[in-house]
Amino acid sequence: GGSRARGNLFQPNFEFKNMGIGGLDKQFMTILRRAFVTRMASPADLEKLGITHVKGMLLYGPPGTGKTLIARQIGKMLNAVEPKIVNGPEMLSKFVGASEENIRKLFKDAEDEYRSKGDDSNLHIIIFDELDAVFKQRGSRGDGTGVGDNVVNQLLSKMDGVNQLNNILVIGMTNRRDLIDSALMRPGRFEIQLEIPLPDKDGRKQIFTIHTNRMREEGLLGSDVDLDELAELTKNYSGAEIAGVVRAASQSGLTRKTTIGQAGKGTVTYDDKKQLLITRDDFMGALQDVRP
Ligand code: ATP
Repeated sequence: GGSRARGNLFQPNFEFKNMGIGGLDKQFMTILRRAFVTRMASPADLEKLGITHVKGMLLYGPPGTGKTLIARQIGKMLNAVEPKIVNGPEMLSKFVGASEENIRKLFKDAEDEYRSKGDDSNLHIIIFDELDAVFKQRGSRGDGTGVGDNVVNQLLSKMDGVNQLNNILVIGMTNRRDLIDSALMRPGRFEIQLEIPLPDKDGRKQIFTIHTNRMREEGLLGSDVDLDELAELTKNYSGAEIAGVVRAASQSGLTRKTTIGQAGKGTVTYDDKKQLLITRDDFMGALQDVRP
């Protein structure tokens, strides 16, 4: 099929940081390439090797480390249709059969397209956040409903069914890999597992660079702001928290353009003529407000 021969992931100079995601190393790319080369390969080659394409991957790690960003980016890199994003708890229903129906609906568009276009259909990505909420070790939920079990079984049967389909990739995400049913990790299911840890110092600097890019281009980032220093001071911060620091610093800088009229008793006015600059002090204050 001609639709699969694309993917900037395979360009030698591809880097995640150019796509707004910081802190992912080369090793990450290597695993990702190996996982997705089966997406680019022709069905005939896969058949000769006796393997199927990768249909599930699991991203795990602490909250706010960019799992959703990465999942969406993978979709773009593989030229997939707009991913469906769901989260575990919202799949669950106390009504008989409704949870299974929710899963069935998730796969329907991809199945319909594959039925009519075969290997020429677009890739459909399903991003499943908070996977652990539904896929805890089966039978251990202890709520007596068995609802989780039904959802697991339905998902497994869908993913096993994907064997014949060539156009589905399920990306599961969790903060608690230890809670995920081992049956889900088998080859042909979530066979690729990637840890997305908290960023190290270099990663944090990259993430600061990404999130201050715009203000730097606009000349609004103070020359006293040292991203190495900020990276040093943000041990244990996630990417989301670093983004939060940049927001808080920006808000702090913006307040200098406001004045309260009538000796502190009047309305707040915004002075558009006053210069806007986000300084080291704004960042230092922000570090006090946004804790890891
Ligand atoms: P959760 O487990 O809570 O769903 P997550 O790992 O999916 O979190 P995201 O939702 O992808 O985290 O990240 C939230 C926001 O934090 C992103 O939209 C982005 O602004 C920022 N962010 C997180 N990680 C990174 C990163 N590695 N590089 C750049 N920005 C990041």
